[in-house]
Amino acid sequence: MSELQSDEGFLADGLAALAADGRSFTPSSPGVILVVLDHSGGLIAARGFREAETIGSAGLAALRTAVGDRAVVLPGPLDRAPVVLFDTDVHDPGDLVAALLDHLALPLELSGEAHFVQSRVGLATAAAVGTTDLGDLVHAAFAAAHVAMESGVLVHEATDSLVAETRREATLRTAMARAVRGDFELHYQPIVDLTTARVLGYESLLRWRSEGELLAPPAFLAAAEETSLILPIGRVGTRVALGQAARWNEGRADGPLFMSVNYSARQLSDALLLPHVERVLDELALSASTLWVEITERDLINFGSPATRTIEALAELGCVICVDDLGTGFAALRYLADLPVSVAKVDRSLVCAVGEDPSIRSIVGAVCDISRSLGIETVAEGIEHEDQIPQLRELGFTHAQGFHFGRPAPAADLVNP
Ligand code: C2E
Ligand code: CA
Ligand code: CA
Repeated sequence: MSELQSDEGFLADGLAALAADGRSFTPSSPGVILVVLDHSGGLIAARGFREAETIGSAGLAALRTAVGDRAVVLPGPLDRAPVVLFDTDVHDPGDLVAALLDHLALPLELSGEAHFVQSRVGLATAAAVGTTDLGDLVHAAFAAAHVAMESGVLVHEATDSLVAETRREATLRTAMARAVRGDFELHYQPIVDLTTARVLGYESLLRWRSEGELLAPPAFLAAAEETSLILPIGRVGTRVALGQAARWNEGRADGPLFMSVNYSARQLSDALLLPHVERVLDELALSASTLWVEITERDLINFGSPATRTIEALAELGCVICVDDLGTGFAALRYLADLPVSVAKVDRSLVCAVGEDPSIRSIVGAVCDISRSLGIETVAEGIEHEDQIPQLRELGFTHAQGFHFGRPAPAADLVNP
């Protein structure tokens, strides 16, 4: 029974209770299923705490009925998170999970009344995780249940790297929370008039200086979104970017530059964003049209949601609303029709393919035509070579952006912006 010993108290207690009952659990290849009952607290929110106390024991009984003598069911490391231990050499993990899910789909008997309890399930097997230590397997199963909870699926299976990945993400979040006030910087990339190549404004792009390294958004944006740290980071970014635009525009003879800033759906749903933008524009004595608001097409925004109300209010204020990465999502035409959009930024993947793929060329041409008829300006994104320009002009693009015209750079590196 040596592999059954564990540092984890709840496991030691559970296995001791099992032994006292005259039963044994001696797997050659252990598997653990961890079930988080009422994971969102929905039933407790609806019924109150008296019911909550019974969810754990009712769930334990239901799981025992579901697995019969194929597995051992013990109270888990946390309240309402029982664990199912079994031998993967004897029972197929998929069959056991299916049996559990079938049972969990039925209402639970709580204080004499039937209630449906929403649950999430994490699976960890010795073969997939690479350990036979039960404590480590329960940890991996919990990490898997956490992924299921975050991604809205019923079940997730742990891999050998899941716990390490979860730990890295937690470390990243902590580092980011520490950095909110200091270590984020903005780089600026020019957006030009496609006919004259004159710089009309800049897009601000977020960078994070972490342990001496300058990280681009793909390395940290998802964590910033999940933790909602994007909200304070974005507010500071708006102030810094608009402050930069105000400095560039001071005494500028050539017409004011605009500043284009990226906002996610989460940022646009934040009730503090609109008053913040108003305050910053006011403090800097900038016209609202200085701010271009970029909303990526992939960020599905429900019409009538708080995010759309913010977009409409920003447009009313005089800000310029842009659909970003057009061609990478599914909502483009609805956005152009239903939101007060003034600029469409066509994604680099489509812009690059215009030269080689006649059907993409037709689609992009049609987007330019529709935009023109709606009074919407069009930016061709990601232009890297001069020879792309004539064709894009012919298709009707008004603006352009890309490494050919200028890479994103700190304000100090931009001469005569
Ligand atoms: P985006 O809004 O589509 O920004 C353009 C991205 O394409 C930038 O990547 C830029 O460096 C890159 N790019 C520009 N021209 C070219 C080119 O000619 N060729 C190639 N290969 N790439 C080019 P970056 O800076 O890594 O930003 C990635 C994404 O992160 C942005 O995509 C935007 O969606 C998001 N992002 C950046 N800053 C912010 C921010 O402050 N807030 C939010 N919510 N998202 C941001
Ligand atoms: Ca953008
Ligand atoms: Ca883009």
